[in-house]
This record gives sequence, C-alpha cells and structure tokens, in this order.
Amino acid sequence: MKIFDAHCDVLSKLLENPGLDFARGHEGLDVTLERMLASGIRVQNFAVYLPERWSGDFKHVLESVDLFHERILALPQMRFIRTKTDLRLALNEDRIGAMLSLEGVDSLHGNLALLRILYRLGIRTVGITWNRANWAADGVLEARNGGFTAAGMDLIRECNRLGMIMDVSHLSEKGFWELIEASRRPVIASHSNAKSISNRLRNLTDAQIVSLIQTGGVIGITFVPPFVSTEEPVSMDRILLHIDHICALGGKRHIGFGSDFDGIREWIVGLEHAGQYDRLVNLLLKHYREEDVKLFVFGNWFRFYMEHLPEESALDQGAAASSLGS
Ligand SMILES: [Zn+2]
Repeated sequence: MKIFDAHCDVLSKLLENPGLDFARGHEGLDVTLERMLASGIRVQNFAVYLPERWSGDFKHVLESVDLFHERILALPQMRFIRTKTDLRLALNEDRIGAMLSLEGVDSLHGNLALLRILYRLGIRTVGITWNRANWAADGVLEARNGGFTAAGMDLIRECNRLGMIMDVSHLSEKGFWELIEASRRPVIASHSNAKSISNRLRNLTDAQIVSLIQTGGVIGITFVPPFVSTEEPVSMDRILLHIDHICALGGKRHIGFGSDFDGIREWIVGLEHAGQYDRLVNLLLKHYREEDVKLFVFGNWFRFYMEHLPEESALDQGAAASSLGS
C-alpha cells in the first residue's frame, strides 16, 4: 500500500554527520532509500531542521537544501515534488516523491525575501516554530504561551500570498488560534497527536483538532513514543487510539502520518524505522476498512497537497505568487 509521510529529519542528521549514507547504509538513519522501497513509502516530506546551536543561521538552511539535492534527489528513484504535476508524475513514474519543508523560521530573522527564496527553492511547507520562541511566534514550550508578533503576522500574510503551507506542530496554543483566525488557507499539523490520548504539551487539544478538521487541514500522527502514550513501552496499537479519537471528532478525511523518524531517539516497539511502516499498515488493515486505511496512510495527505501545491504554470511566471495575488 502506498504511504505518504509528512515529516522526517534525515536532512538534519546529514547536516550534522555528512558521513551517513541515505542511498546505501542504515547506520545512524531511520529513513533510507532501501527502507522506503521496502515498506512502500511513495511520498516523503523532508524537513530542514537546524540543531538549536545553528537555528539562526540561514547558511545552514541552504546547506540542508544542497544536501537534499546531492544526497537524496540525485538518486534516480527519487523525484522532487514542487507542483501538482510533480506529485502526479512521481506516482506515475513509480518514483518516490520528495518534498521539502522548513521546521521553524528562526533563520529568516523576519526577512520575507528569504522566505520567498525558499519557496523558489521548492520549500512548500513551513513550521513556524520549534519548541522555543522565535521572531515570529512562541513555541509550545514557552510558559508564557505567547502568540504571534507583528512580524509573525506579516509571515502569515506572505505565506498565504505565496501558497506556502503553514505547519502548527510545535507552535504555542495561543499562536495556533491566532493562525487559524488570520490564515486565509488551511493549515496542517505535520507531526502531532491527540492530547486527550497522551497528555503532552506538544499534542493537540480536541478543540485544536476540530478546528484543523473544519478548516480543511490534515493532522500527521507521529511516532514519538511519549506523544503516542504516557505508558512505556509504547506498542504500535496505541496509535489506533489516536486514529479512533480523531475519527470520533469527525476527522477521518484529515488523518495522515508524520513519523518524525530521524528526529527521535526512542521508538515505538516494532516501528523502529521507515522499513517497518508496512507493519503499521497491516495492523490498520485489521481494524479499519481498506478504503479508510488508504486515506490514513496516503490519501488524505495526497488530496491536501494536490489541492494546495501550485500548478507548474504558476512557477513559470517567475514570481511564486499564486492566484490569490497580493
Ligand atoms: Zn518536530
């Protein structure tokens, strides 16, 4: 079964340890080409995440984009997805689609020209914060629970204008509600779970989940063990509780997965790397109708990105501006 995963941190590991080998090795990586092929991952969103000591340095963002090209897109099995056409072709050509996202806008320092440059480089999704505050908004670990700054509101407007998809994973709750209010486009949570099932700060409240559903977003259930369950060890069937809960809130067509592989140091038992994703699919097939499993593991993300990625022609205009204009 085709799998679409909305978040992994391979690029961050490659940035810190260039010796790691995505194409052949497994040493030190959860997501590798061989494992994606083995489990049926057909689209993977690769996050540009900078370790905290580098988080303000745009140069490392560009280096991450370079690594994406040199180490991942250079493989003939991969195809870069920047447009609806790319996504369609990746599937028709039997290649793995690779998308780019930015996790936390710290390195932009409020300079929206840098945001536009990243859009032109093919980044299509932007997480506003990591756990801490930055120039745009507060992350979820800031006790003051601040929302967006004035510069952050400008970021929302520019993302909306460009068609850059905004990602609320790691964003403070106040920031979440301000974004829902201000954004003219649906937003996503690429790697977040339900707080009602695992009461962790990083997870989403029922009200947040309902709001993402009502505004047409998608929630990527993540495999970070403490976000799945507060009881250890965490088994794969705990993931079903999050699916059931989000479905009960009306979210059957808004559930996806965002593993956070290569961004985690502990794993769900039996779901320890990307090559084991098919085990999750088999478990889901025991509990849900096949057509629903297809939505969860692929269809919902696919539908969202087919709707919100730009047309090829929009890029030819030079500027990234979408039909929304300024
Ligand atoms: Zn993250």
